[in-house]
Amino acid sequence: MVEVVGSSPIVPTNDFILLNIRMPKITLPDGQEKEFPLNTTLFEVAKNISNSLAKVAVAGKINGKLRDLSVEIIDNTRVEIIKKTDEEGVEIVRHSFAHLIGHAIKQLYPEAKMAIGPVIKNGFYYDIDCDKSFNVEDLSAIENKINELIKKNYDVIRKVVTPKEALDVFKKRNEPYKQEIINEIPEGEEIALYFHEEYIDMCRGPHVPNTKFLKHFKLTKVSGAYWRGNSDNKMLQRIYGTAWDTKEELNSYIEKIEEAEKNDHRKLGKQLDLFHFQEEAPGMVFWHSKGWTVYQLLKSFMRKINFDAGYEEINTPQILDRTLWEKSGHWDKFGDMIFSTHSEKRDYAVKPMSCPGHLQVFNQGLKSYKELPLKLCEFGLVHRNEPSGTLHGLMRARQFVQDDAHIFCTESQLYDEITKLIKLTFKVYEQLGFKNIKVALSTRPEKKVGSEDIWNKSEKILSDTLKENVPNFITLPGEGAFYGPKIEFTLTDSLSREWQCGTVQLDFSMPSALSAKYIDENGDKAVPVMIHRAILGSMERFIGILIEHYGGKLPFWLCPEQLVIVNISDKHIGFAKDINEIFKKNAFRSSLDLRNEKIGYKIRELIIAKVPYIVIIGDKEVSAGKISVREYDGTEHNLISATEFIEKLKDNAITVN
Ligand code: ZN
Repeated sequence: MVEVVGSSPIVPTNDFILLNIRMPKITLPDGQEKEFPLNTTLFEVAKNISNSLAKVAVAGKINGKLRDLSVEIIDNTRVEIIKKTDEEGVEIVRHSFAHLIGHAIKQLYPEAKMAIGPVIKNGFYYDIDCDKSFNVEDLSAIENKINELIKKNYDVIRKVVTPKEALDVFKKRNEPYKQEIINEIPEGEEIALYFHEEYIDMCRGPHVPNTKFLKHFKLTKVSGAYWRGNSDNKMLQRIYGTAWDTKEELNSYIEKIEEAEKNDHRKLGKQLDLFHFQEEAPGMVFWHSKGWTVYQLLKSFMRKINFDAGYEEINTPQILDRTLWEKSGHWDKFGDMIFSTHSEKRDYAVKPMSCPGHLQVFNQGLKSYKELPLKLCEFGLVHRNEPSGTLHGLMRARQFVQDDAHIFCTESQLYDEITKLIKLTFKVYEQLGFKNIKVALSTRPEKKVGSEDIWNKSEKILSDTLKENVPNFITLPGEGAFYGPKIEFTLTDSLSREWQCGTVQLDFSMPSALSAKYIDENGDKAVPVMIHRAILGSMERFIGILIEHYGGKLPFWLCPEQLVIVNISDKHIGFAKDINEIFKKNAFRSSLDLRNEKIGYKIRELIIAKVPYIVIIGDKEVSAGKISVREYDGTEHNLISATEFIEKLKDNAITVN
């Protein structure tokens, strides 16, 4: 008797089982039902549906679970065939490409040890332990080898084994990382091995049935990665790749990453002389004069926004006693992320956020309901001990400044205040050149403070204001802060990448934890509600986003150098200096390049530095008492008076463009 574990709720008689298992009935996504002989594979099902489907089928789903095409049907099930063009199909193709890296690497470098090779967004990678350190030429050699293997059109064969059998396979092959993984798999569980001719990999699958499905790919880069992401472990080499269904899709993706590389803020930061990082201060920026100018300009812009919206700017201490952070809940929540220090037998935290400090300011003098809403803002310098492996230029730093603010108000003021915040945030982003803004409501996380009632109430207020103002918002369950739900604003940049920046968080907990009170209309003491908000988020990160969004060519009002005046020879120095003074008097950031270099050389350098206007002074200009200007895009203004040009600038350019 064949033993079958079925999904039928009926307790079957032997006859029923025999009948049932001879001809399992499958239900297709369109509701169609078909009977197949027992042990029909998913591939045969695809072929039965149509030959054209079988040609593009890379996997299937049995009762919603992804399976290889070689898997057999043994019971009544729902079946779906996954094509290579389906989203899941593309992922399967990418995952199979990761195995192909393994196959190619082991042929080229038999001593290499393979660790893990998962799928990631838009691609895949493989972590490899190999004495040879891979460079760009090696990547193209590996690519060639992969292409050779693909051309063989070999079948990828799946075999299910026990952990012990799998262990034997990888012991024989001297693959310690695979063995380590298997040792953590409980006895009795099944492991799928995938045979790529002589190369064997281990994987949950599914994978393409044949390499003929593997076509349009590219290995994009190699970087270091600790085994299991732990810096105590060995550093492995991670080879990244990407794969797409068509050549066009592959090429357009490669163009996009090349564009992103060109726009990388770390590269542009160097090229435009804005900032640098160095090993002595991991995750902390050394701002150069030009970068600091951009920083100050953005800060002034935000300062005016805050002032106009009725905020009062304050500044609170960098280091505060540990007990305060314990009361506020941050000590627990942030844990290792807090930098701490001690003095005179007291423990202090270097502030990871400004909220508790703002509550101390609120608590000075008992406030009346007439003073609410009270809006305190701070360009709050914070430190967070992010793991060194996650640091990424300005985008993820350990020291940064938040454009932070806290609004203390009554419950009845919440709706209005949140509505204002949503509008203000949209206005700021639009002025900074971002049009595509997504809004999400993040609801209660698992680890939280405050009662269910309060969470219900706060989530409702936020979702009501969003329904009114941004009806297309999405909800992210469980993503809220530990003290309250939040609204999150995400920008899309010129390269279609998304950046979560602004946040509006509702907090019924921290004010009472830190004893904030006001006198209400009835003369009674009441606890205010606190709204935490940041629009840019981190100033540093936002500048990184701006640099990448604009490819380094910042809007005119944010340019550290708006005009540079260059002389053709020494006899033009005097006039060049006069012109510089005129621009400076008119409040433009103008400077001189009087170096004894050829004019063409100076212009080329200023173009690389993305200076919007190069003012050229030579014989013609001096004798006419006029200037010639070359715009960044190549447009020329020959022999124009400085005053006339300044009028043009004032008319057109001093807006955020
Ligand atoms: Zn806060």
